[in-house]
Formats: sequence, structure tokens, C-alpha cells
Amino acid sequence: MKTDSKPKEKRWIKPLPERLINKIAAGEVIERPAAVLKELVENALDAGSDRIEIAIEKSGMKLISIVDNGCGIAPEQIEIAFSRHATSKIRDFDDLEALTSYGFRGEALPSIGAISKTRMISRSEGAEMGREIIIEGGVVQSVKPVAALIGTRVEVADLFFNTPARRKFLKTEATESRHLTRTATAMALSSINAKFSYSVNGRQLFGIEDSSDNLEKRIASLLLGDRNHPLFGFYEDFEKVNITGYLSYPDKCRQNRYGLYLFINGRYIQSVTLNHAVTSGYGEMLPRGSYPVGAVFLQIDPRRVDVNVHPTKAEVRLSEEREIHDLLYQTVKRTIRGDESIGRKRPDLRDERSGGGNEPRSIEESIRRAKMLSPERKGLPPRETLDKLYGEGKTETDRGEAGPYERVPAEFSFLGGDSMEATVLERDELPGLAYMGQFSGLYLLFRSTKELLIVDQHAAHERILYEKNLFNIEKGGAISQNLLFPINVDLPTDQYALFEEAHDILRSVGFEAEPFGARTVMVSAVPTVLTRKSPEKMFTEILNDLEELRKGGHEIKKAIAQSLACRGAVMAGDRMSEEEARKLLEGLLQTETRYCCPHGRPIVFRISRDELDRKFGRK
Ligand code: ADP
Ligand code: MG
Repeated sequence: MKTDSKPKEKRWIKPLPERLINKIAAGEVIERPAAVLKELVENALDAGSDRIEIAIEKSGMKLISIVDNGCGIAPEQIEIAFSRHATSKIRDFDDLEALTSYGFRGEALPSIGAISKTRMISRSEGAEMGREIIIEGGVVQSVKPVAALIGTRVEVADLFFNTPARRKFLKTEATESRHLTRTATAMALSSINAKFSYSVNGRQLFGIEDSSDNLEKRIASLLLGDRNHPLFGFYEDFEKVNITGYLSYPDKCRQNRYGLYLFINGRYIQSVTLNHAVTSGYGEMLPRGSYPVGAVFLQIDPRRVDVNVHPTKAEVRLSEEREIHDLLYQTVKRTIRGDESIGRKRPDLRDERSGGGNEPRSIEESIRRAKMLSPERKGLPPRETLDKLYGEGKTETDRGEAGPYERVPAEFSFLGGDSMEATVLERDELPGLAYMGQFSGLYLLFRSTKELLIVDQHAAHERILYEKNLFNIEKGGAISQNLLFPINVDLPTDQYALFEEAHDILRSVGFEAEPFGARTVMVSAVPTVLTRKSPEKMFTEILNDLEELRKGGHEIKKAIAQSLACRGAVMAGDRMSEEEARKLLEGLLQTETRYCCPHGRPIVFRISRDELDRKFGRK
């Protein structure tokens, strides 16, 4: 046994100094500049302000400043406001139940003060003068009387100056700015009685001068830049939830999901499930890869909402998430179709599922109707062809399993001693080819006047899908199938990290998968080519493949393209109709590297009449 040679020190248990506690707490509460903004604006609103001016410099790292016209802080209290768990908003436990204010933990100011250089000037009603406090890294530098208007000004400079680890953890300036703007927008959306102004680096990004805005106008003004822009609105009072919202018509949708804001009980939240409910409510009217713009406000009995899953993340936990999802989905769907005839009856969801309303072709059709079809993509077969081929609902049974990393035998060579030749198919050959049938559930046989062609159906399809995936990764346009019921997949830590790395690429190939808790991912849509198996299975298989391929040194984009191609391609044993066989050949002709599958195995072999003649001793 190994013994510790060091003399045992006596260890005193001591409370941590408050400064250190605050710094540690700050790490949890203040994750990024946007969190400071959120806390300060919430404080301003809690103080009854109806005019809030926000100024940001250098994505909040240099300065975040908030000026409000609220009730202010009494001079003798300004220092206490920065001490831990000091709050004016709650006195005993009963208050917790009936909470209407935003903050109540009394953590924000001390946390912010601990990791920045903060100056606050505040004057309360009845006080003759204001008071200024300067606090740096949790240490009060000065407190003194100053002239001030009633209200509060907080300037947070050099955020994270004394927590380099946290600073390093921040994303790019662009990302932090986006979070800041989103936060400011959300606050302005949810407090329509207050005027807001929001400037970044001296330039005003929005200014809302009108505090008598109605909700629709404020949403249109903030999110579409024109307060008179038409939106469609809804108001539904269900037993479990009250839903109010205004959303854009499909023509104003965006290519990213940042135009949609969700609120529960006035609080801006993030919820993959509810996002999904809104987006799928548009159904086929929304082109794939587009997202609605607008804001939806839910009122739910606070006892059914746990907003404290994480103090800074806008995540919430709803006790009846599934039901709320469905109600929201139905509301959006009903309103956008202008279909009031359905009334309040809860439509049968199962019908929805088997009705196939989400099939890619009808999505495509509706896009075309809306004249929003993107220009034909070069180098790919017309979408219809692909969709037909890949959207076909094959069953899971009767197919062989194959991984994306099937080995290509080392000795394999296209030009081996074999008399058959692996070749490239040429476009002008196609009209002269007659389909003869499928051999052994895997090889497609074609004949021309001079040759027999043998096509490996899996390898061919894989090649087509692979190139299509790569195209989608670079250019977008993947077609996915929304799951009526999003699923949660728990991942091991290392796979979760891989998921995070691959997140954007997975999205570009058609997975809608969002982090949902520590190691959980919520999958709400899968690429249409993968709809034949359970989404959970597909998702984990793809991640397993990725892990494997990454170990083999594959670039992540190619690895995903490859794994998806392999998982989505027709398998050995899949029966093919003549039409499908022909479509496959057409698809193959559109590919760039059509002599081998992504694993390097050949796709097409030919046997010529001459070859056969020799074999039969005719020549
Ligand atoms: P909490 O908001 O959870 O109470 P904070 O640390 O954010 O905790 O703020 C502490 C206290 O400081 C608040 O309870 C409030 O009394 C006071 N305060 C903070 N900001 C303002 C403000 N802008 N106007 C008036 N009072 C404020
Ligand atoms: Mg607060």
C-alpha cells in the first residue's frame, strides 16, 4: 500500500470569502454578455421602468449600459444591492409562490460586480441626490453622492476581465452580439408598455418610441422592420394554456430559426419542442429549411412550469409538454389555413400521421405553388426524381444491414485479372439500355445491343446520396421529415461532444436535433431518406458511424455524408421495380464520381458480346 509521506496538515474549515463566492456564482449566472443584459433589463422592468435605453460596445465585452426611469434605489441601499442574496422582491417563503417579478434571488448584481468593472448610479423618488457606486472584481472602489435623475444607470465594463477562463469560453463576437440582440429584442417584445432603444457600437439597431403599441405592431416592427407589415394572429384559451401570438406568412420566413420568439408567462424561453410545434403548424406551407418569424406567448399555470432548470439558460420544463405542443401546433395550423371549421374539436393526431401531410412531394408542391422554389440546382437530378426514389417507403424488414465503413478489400482493383470491367456509365447510353431484371436481390441487369451491364444497386444509390448530402451540406436544400412526436436521445458524453461538433452539418443534411439538457438531444426531424427506421435508431447509428469514421481520420462533413448515404441507400434484398431501377441509373448519371461508391467499390460492370463469344469458344 502506498502511504502519503507528507505530514498531515491540520485542515481548517473556513467559509469562503464573499468575493470568491460571488465570483464562483457569477460563473453560473453570467454565462455570457447577453446574461448581463437580461439581468439588468429585468431589474429595470421590475423597478417599473417604462423607458429603457440599452447600449452595447464590442459585443458587450467592453460595455453594457442600461439606463432606466424606474423607481431607483435609495442612497443608503445601493451598496447592499450588490451583496449576495440581497433582494427587495421577496421576504419570506410564501412570496416565492406568488412571484410576479423577474428576479428574486438577489444574485445578479453581486455576480456582475464580481466579474467586471461596474458603475451604478441610482436615485430613488424622494431622495435629493443620486448615489454612485463603483465596484471592480467584487471590491467596492467608491460610493458617493452624485447628481442624477430618478431611475438607474448601470454600466458594466470589461466583463470577465478577471475570469480569463470564462472569457476564453465565449464564442465569436458575432455570436455574442447575436445573443445580445436577441435578448434585447425578446425583452422589447414581452414588455410592450415600455419604450426601448437598443444601440450597438454607437448605432441604434432599434428604437421603439411608442409605448402604446399593440402586440401585433410591436412584433411587426421589431421582427420585420415595419410596424404595418401584415401578420396572422391567434388567441386561444385552452384549459391548460392560453396561447397568443403573431406570426409571419410563409413569404416572410427566414432561413434560420432566430426569427421566432417564444414566451411563457411573459418570460422569454427556448424550447425545441414548442419551436417544433409552431414550425410544423405551418406544415407544407413552409419550405423546408425555412423558419417562421414572429412571437408566441403562452400563459400556463406557473405550477406547471419549472423555469429554474438552469438559472441562465432560457430552458424551461413543462409538466405537460406533449399536450402543450399539440395545442400550439393545432392553433398555428388552424389559423394559417384560415380553417375555423375545425372549431375547438381536437383533431385526431393519428389521422394526421397516416394522412401523410408531410410527405416531401406535397411539400415541394406547395412550395411551387407559393412560387418559392429555388432555382434548379445544378448537377443534381430534378428533385422529383430523387424524391420519388428516396422517399419511397421501403420497409425495414428484408434488408441487409451494412455499415458505412464496410471495408474495400485491399487487393481489390478495377483492372484486376477479371475479364469484366468496372466502368463509368455514359449519358448517351441510357436510351439504348433495356432493363432485364434484378439478380440476387442486389444486382440490376441492363442490356444494350453490344453489352450486358451489371449495377450494384446499393453502391449506386450510395454514390447518389453521398453527393447529394455533400451538396446539401455546402449549399442547403436537404429535405427532412418532421416527426410528429420529437424524441429525446440520451448520449454518452463523448458522443455528445461529437454531436455538438457535428450539429450544424447534421442540420444541413436534414436532422433537426437540438441539445435538450445535459447529454440529451431532442430530435424533431430526420432526413427523408432515413424515415424507414425508427428515428432514434437512425440518429444513434449515424453518430456511431461518425465516431468510427472519425477514428479512421475522415473529415466530419464527408463522414456524415457517407454515413447518411449508406444508411439511406437501398440495401441488398430490396426489390426494385423497373421504374426504380431506371431512376437509379438516371440519378447515377448526375453524379460526379460515378465509377465507385463512397467506400471505393465499383458500381457498374460490363460484359461485352465479344467477351462472351470468347468464353463460349466462338472466337
Ligand atoms: P434581484 O433582482 O434578484 O432582487 P439583483 O441582484 O438583480 O437581485 O438586484 C438586487 C436589488 O437591487 C433588487 O432587488 C432591487 O431592489 C435593486 N435593483 C437592482 N437594479 C435596480 C434598478 N434598475 N432599479 C431599481 N432597483 C434595482
Ligand atoms: Mg435582478
